[in-house]
Amino acid sequence: MSDTPPGRLFFQSETFRVEGSLARHPRVTGRHLTEPAREVPIHAECDVLVVGGGPAGTAAAVAAGRLGARVMLLERHNHLGGLSTGGLVIWIDRMTDWSGQLVIRGFAEEYLARLPKGAIAGPPREAWGSRDAATAAWWALRTAAFHGTVTHSPTADPEWMKAVALEMVTEAGAEPLFHAWGAQPVMEGNAVRGAIFESKQGRRAILAKVVVDATGDGDLFHRAGAASAADIEEGDIHHAMNTSWMFGGVDMEAYLRWRAEQPEQFSEFLRLGREAHGQFEKAFVSWRNDVALFMGPRMTGFSAVAVDDLTEVEIRSHRLMLAHLAFYRAHAPGFAGAWPLLSAPQLGVRHARRLVGAGAVTRAMWDGGVAPDEVGVSPGLSPRFPNVSIPYGALVPARLDGLLAPGRHLSCDATSHSFMREIPQCWLTGQAAGVAAALAADRGIEPRLLPAREVQRLLLAQNVYLSAASIAAAA
Ligand SMILES: Cc1cc2nc3c(=O)[nH]c(=O)nc-3n(C[C@H](O)[C@H](O)[C@H](O)COP(=O)(O)OP(=O)(O)OC[C@H]3O[C@@H](n4cnc5c(N)ncnc54)[C@H](O)[C@@H]3O)c2cc1C
Repeated sequence: MSDTPPGRLFFQSETFRVEGSLARHPRVTGRHLTEPAREVPIHAECDVLVVGGGPAGTAAAVAAGRLGARVMLLERHNHLGGLSTGGLVIWIDRMTDWSGQLVIRGFAEEYLARLPKGAIAGPPREAWGSRDAATAAWWALRTAAFHGTVTHSPTADPEWMKAVALEMVTEAGAEPLFHAWGAQPVMEGNAVRGAIFESKQGRRAILAKVVVDATGDGDLFHRAGAASAADIEEGDIHHAMNTSWMFGGVDMEAYLRWRAEQPEQFSEFLRLGREAHGQFEKAFVSWRNDVALFMGPRMTGFSAVAVDDLTEVEIRSHRLMLAHLAFYRAHAPGFAGAWPLLSAPQLGVRHARRLVGAGAVTRAMWDGGVAPDEVGVSPGLSPRFPNVSIPYGALVPARLDGLLAPGRHLSCDATSHSFMREIPQCWLTGQAAGVAAALAADRGIEPRLLPAREVQRLLLAQNVYLSAASIAAAA
């Protein structure tokens, strides 16, 4: 573990070990072949091309579409939501600040409100911010209270999240294109003006006035030559990878009761699990009592952009899933009838590349202050910290034009990545990128030249929460 001061990391008590990366010993033959040059059909032209349909890309497509832009949304899988659905990361992190005020609003608030009853579980609004010891202890076991404070951090049904995301995207007039892998930016000088994608039809291009890279891994901005950072915070889990899974047929209330009432037995269970399997994970609640969620064991030291490493993490995660099934069935109350409901279709990558931006979210900003180009506000990491003001510059590459980069690969330092990569923050930065991309396309100017006040006015009209100082400045 690192010597990180208290309160700086959210998952401070977590431990993990560094594994060997296959990327350090890659399977390279040293030989190359030359691909012949070829004509690439232009599949479509649009104002805003969003590449990647995760939380950031979905929010960007909806925000831009609602402003009247012609939007296309390219996604390599068959669904929207990225890791929040296909990655089974169905525990949405905190959207309230430590006083219980909802600060991640806009797209996020509307999206979750549109989920039907029964598809989302979490504390009722009147409990947000509660410090009542019994209430907080109850919700702490259900991943919705931290530091003795109840938070709005619900769990949700991934299928309903996919369905509502698709409805919102198409209602906004944005056109999704599934089974299409964004492969290469289309360049015009220093500006990105579209992307070439791979699909069953081979390579095709989509031309756009502005591109939003929402791949999470910076695929587009990296290939366009923008600088990225890859340093990590060793003591945090933000650089670990794993494939999540869900077990059905469980009784989570029985399991949680056992955890709360027999803490020594539970510790011994974890110890024996680690002894048997090396890495061992606690079960998390989901949106249903009969479904358990496992978002680990987390593996570190692998590269999220090396295909051999991705394969190795899949193999290890899937083996660990079956090992956990047997161990939980045999030893954990509530798990006797467990069965493997689903392993995530999308590998859980927390960190690959981070943009080097015109601005950045940095540790210095955790102590307060309002960014002049604020596009949203994130809850502070612990009650010791106020809300963090997110600058537009964190989405804008330092030099590359024609592209914005919201989501988990935005510009931030390694320690701020611990919370800026979370789903609510990705919705927030995605919505900001969508608004800015639509505005830049409409004006025919580069995203970096947009007046911050105009972006803020459009964000406020889409119900985004901004600091009082930003609201006054935008008025
Ligand atoms: C195991 C795990 C646990 C986590 N726990 C939590 C948690 O409890 N709470 C929380 O809030 N957050 C959590 N996170 C973080 C959060 O899930 C992600 O950081 C967040 O989903 C990132 O959103 P994004 O839109 O930036 O990227 P992603 O969710 O990764 O979405 C990117 C999308 O782009 C697509 N894509 C990628 N490359 C291409 C390409 N070249 N062409 C076309 N499509 C492409 C992908 O298929 C995907 O759909 C966790 C993450 C992991 C991995």
